[in-house]
Amino acid sequence: MAANSGNPAPQTGDQTPTDKKAPAAGGTSSNAYPIVDHTYDVVVVGAGGSGLRATMGSAEAGFRTANISKVFPTRSHTVAAQGGIAASLGNNTPDHWSWHMYDTVKGSDWLGDQDAIEYLAREAPAAVYELEHAGVPFSRNKDGTIYQRPFGGHMQNMGEGPPVQRTCAAADRTGHAMLHALYQQSLKYDADFFIEYFAIDLIMEGGACRGVIAMCLDDGSIHRFRSQSVVLATGGYGRCYYTATSAHTCTGDGGGMVLRAGLPLQDMEFVQFHPTGIYGAGVLITEGARGEGGYLTNSEGERFMERYAPSAKDLASRDVVSRSMALEMREGRGVGPEGDHIHLHLDHIDPNVLAERLPGITESGKIFAGVDLTRQPLPVTPTVHYNMGGIPTNYHGEVVTIGPDGNPDHVVPGLYAAGEAGCVSVHGANRLGSNSLIDLVVFGRAIGHRLKDTITPGASQNELPKNSAEMALTRLDHFRHAKGSAPTAAIRAEMQKTMQTHAAVFRDSKLMSEGVEKLAATYSKMQDVSVTDRSLIWNSDLIETMELDNLIAQASVTMASAENRKESRGAHAHEDFPDRDDANWMKHTAAWFEGWGGKDGAVKIDYRPVHEYTLTDDIDYIEPKKRVY
Ligand SMILES: Cc1cc2nc3c(=O)[nH]c(=O)nc-3n(C[C@H](O)[C@H](O)[C@H](O)COP(=O)(O)OP(=O)(O)OC[C@H]3O[C@@H](n4cnc5c(N)ncnc54)[C@H](O)[C@@H]3O)c2cc1C
Repeated sequence: MAANSGNPAPQTGDQTPTDKKAPAAGGTSSNAYPIVDHTYDVVVVGAGGSGLRATMGSAEAGFRTANISKVFPTRSHTVAAQGGIAASLGNNTPDHWSWHMYDTVKGSDWLGDQDAIEYLAREAPAAVYELEHAGVPFSRNKDGTIYQRPFGGHMQNMGEGPPVQRTCAAADRTGHAMLHALYQQSLKYDADFFIEYFAIDLIMEGGACRGVIAMCLDDGSIHRFRSQSVVLATGGYGRCYYTATSAHTCTGDGGGMVLRAGLPLQDMEFVQFHPTGIYGAGVLITEGARGEGGYLTNSEGERFMERYAPSAKDLASRDVVSRSMALEMREGRGVGPEGDHIHLHLDHIDPNVLAERLPGITESGKIFAGVDLTRQPLPVTPTVHYNMGGIPTNYHGEVVTIGPDGNPDHVVPGLYAAGEAGCVSVHGANRLGSNSLIDLVVFGRAIGHRLKDTITPGASQNELPKNSAEMALTRLDHFRHAKGSAPTAAIRAEMQKTMQTHAAVFRDSKLMSEGVEKLAATYSKMQDVSVTDRSLIWNSDLIETMELDNLIAQASVTMASAENRKESRGAHAHEDFPDRDDANWMKHTAAWFEGWGGKDGAVKIDYRPVHEYTLTDDIDYIEPKKRVY
């Protein structure tokens, strides 16, 4: 076991320890950086819910498995997930996997792949019971079964209603409980953890992935991992916006690596705004708050969601609620002197219920808004929360791209992705609440199964190409010695403000084309970035610069994909094209970043077809309909 923080590099795997002297400052080739070599069957990058589930599955199947994480596993953003995890257990109301599938397809505004969505909905109960057996302390009903709460967009009877109670919760600390259980299980199966190691780039050879290059944050040593398969589970890139509910570590490093490997990202224009971020702080108040009976009001004290979603009301899907809130504010019915937020009421709920089911958010209300939720409404505003887009995969978690022969489902050998970094695509144009946590474990688990079917533990691996570390080290060295005039923080703030203004809840052609230009100008400043710390010991200046490089490529791809999509669907509300256009736009965007080196931030766009078929004959393809709640 190699869990390490502040200790020497773990001596695990087939390792070739090399000279560990501090690299010479100012070196410009890989010779300047001694490399420690490791060989594994499987390397997972990321120790959030998806990475840990994949690590556990891989190690359990007998593969020599390494997990690389830039933060301690239980500090991954999954720890912040409050509301819960969706599965049709039917403990509190009747439910069926086909109802869960229907709601997810409708939630995705028909952009989700229905084979993958069927897989998700069918496998969800088994994945939740597995978590229960792994030790997740779910909240309970009186009869001992797992307690389930209502969540937005989850209904009974193939969307007909009434709302279903499908979201399993451990109070409002579900993600926290999951991470601890999954980390323990991964250790039980003897996975090696490389903790506080920063993965820089993939090692690619002939279109296949052969491993990954990482840096130990602690001492600056460079580690080259050779493996039969690499799993990217690096989470979302919410931090390309100025205000987001996601942690500062959510910089989409996996997406950056994939773009640099010349592969596309998919459906990046779909960014979810959560209706209830605490005004000013951006801290999340779970949708579970509305699930437990909370509701929104405008400055006139009106429960306005009754007008926009007569049936689901405050539990309509997130894109619908966020847009309704934005419209209320735009029409002058926002709360506060600036009319720039909305009130969330929980003050009518029994304080004992709040204390039992929502203790964390009661605390957040106090700390971040100075509000006593049991007596006062909480100021909230739509806040960037989740990336529906990401690294395209099939339902086995294998990364796909458009192949040289035009095959849109061409599998990239040796490369997997899961969790928020991936786009499988089950969330399509809009994710339903509590469907991410289940996505993490269902597809993290699917990767374990696929590895078992496709590779052999301990199989011999070819030598890596001679230049395998060249790209990562040249980039590292470039930023480490960058002597320009623009500090990383200034470039980051410029990008974040552009995203916040030009790719917001509502967008139009003018805003987005200006956004494309502004981001290109910001990207060109990356050539003139200034990094002041030249050391390799906990160089947060350097790491933040590499994270920014990952973020800005994804921001550029997001803006260009949004500007390109001439319709409104799910979270993409295009004011010049207010309707969904299935005839022209029922397709996934695939976007490549070609602006490397400051070349106009160029983005190339192509398309992959939506999978308009199910996995089995047990259920028919769910035909597109107008989406009303
Ligand atoms: C506040 C909040 C509440 C939420 N609540 C819910 C909820 O109740 N229900 C729900 O379904 N969804 C919820 N979501 C969404 C869901 O929690 C996330 O989508 C999900 O947890 C992401 O998990 P992940 O495994 O993809 O990655 P993360 O948990 O984000 O972990 C990413 C991992 O990658 C590692 N990493 C990243 N880059 C590198 C690198 N370069 N080198 C090495 N390691 C790297 C990190 O160290 C980390 O271990 C919530 C999200 C937020 C922000």
